[in-house]
Amino acid sequence: MSVIKNKVVIITGASSGIGRATAVKLASVGAKIVLAARRKERLQELAEEIQSLGGTAVYKVTDVTSLEDVQNLAGFALEHYGQIDVLFNNAGIMPLSYMKNNRVEEWDQMIDVNIKGVLHGVSAVLPHMLEKNSGHIITTSSVAGHGIFPSGTVYCATKFAARVIMEGLNKELTKSNIRTTTISPGVVDTELPNLIVDQEVKPIFENPDLPSIRSEDIANAVHYALSQPASVAVNEIIIRPTNQG
Ligand code: NDP
Repeated sequence: MSVIKNKVVIITGASSGIGRATAVKLASVGAKIVLAARRKERLQELAEEIQSLGGTAVYKVTDVTSLEDVQNLAGFALEHYGQIDVLFNNAGIMPLSYMKNNRVEEWDQMIDVNIKGVLHGVSAVLPHMLEKNSGHIITTSSVAGHGIFPSGTVYCATKFAARVIMEGLNKELTKSNIRTTTISPGVVDTELPNLIVDQEVKPIFENPDLPSIRSEDIANAVHYALSQPASVAVNEIIIRPTNQG
């Protein structure tokens, strides 16, 4: 029997891309999923799709920039399923731009979603996981959390931060049975570049020859990390297109 069966998994950013694919994958092996994002229709549709495939999923509209929303999400999962086994801190945005263009509002938004959103998730589930001395927190960083590229300065800073938060948390939790995993994808074919407004950057992601992998490839990586025995922690997975530089 899969070790994932009946595990309660909260997924943020579940309304599209990597979060959506991961929800479908984990539900297919028997996890009980709590879908979270801002777009209600997408979440409702996905919950129905998972249920029609024989899986278990509920959803809660959540803005991860609000600590109260994320606390309510954790409370909803506990009310519904009585426990939280996994948090997949996956919501993120990537409005890339060159710093000279001074798009401060976008910098603030990336910090709010990609850093504060991760911290809100940790804050909301950690007390419960510490109390039961088990759990798994997975966060989507990026290869942009390992190296910096022009137009990605602030985005990279947020993804470095996400990785550092997971590593720091892991060091604090060595005496507990709580595990952490950072997933660091390269280019994945999702809606993520849609928020890029900077006209100097947008064409890079509109190039049909840009190598990319599928959201399902990342879902498989999350599944791998979660499939290990309780004594094994997969702390980081870097996964990118074979031809990505
Ligand atoms: P998508 O744009 O398809 O998904 C992003 C998800 O985040 C959506 O479900 C969106 O839902 C959610 N989201 C955005 N803002 C908020 C918010 N304030 N509160 C709650 N949810 C929010 O892109 P991906 O699937 O690619 O992105 C998932 C993660 O993967 C991100 O952290 C991204 O940085 C990371 N990543 C992606 C890569 C790629 O190439 N695609 C590469 C490396 C990392 P909604 O709008 O409904 O709220």
